[in-house]
Amino acid sequence: LDLRMADATTTLAELKLAMRRFVAERHWEPYHSPKNLAMGLAVEAAELMEHFLWIEGAESYTVVQDAAKRQAIADELADVAGQLLNLSNVLDIDLSEAIAAKMAKNAQKYPPAS
Ligand SMILES: [Mg+2]
Repeated sequence: LDLRMADATTTLAELKLAMRRFVAERHWEPYHSPKNLAMGLAVEAAELMEHFLWIEGAESYTVVQDAAKRQAIADELADVAGQLLNLSNVLDIDLSEAIAAKMAKNAQKYPPAS
C-alpha cells in the first residue's frame, strides 16, 4: 500500500475514502460496528497515552526528538485518526461539519480571552 498524503494537500474526504477502501478490501465491515469502532478509538488513544505515561510535562514535548519514539507516536496518532475516520464513515457523520459545529458551540461556551 503506497499512499502519499500530507496535511497541506489531503482532504478529509480523501482520507475517509482511503480508509473505506482499506476496510472494504479486507472485508472487515462485519466487525466494524459503531460500538467496536468507538472502543477501538479509546484503545488507540490509550496506546498513544502510553508513550507519555510516567514522564514529566516538559519531557512530553521533547520525547519526539528520539526518531524511534517519534515514529511510534506518529503510528498511534494514525491509529486514532483511522478509527475516527472509520467511525465517521460507518455512522455517516460528516466530520468537518461536526467539528465546525462543535467549535461554534465551544466558542459560545468559552469566549476569546481579552
Ligand atoms: Mg495502535
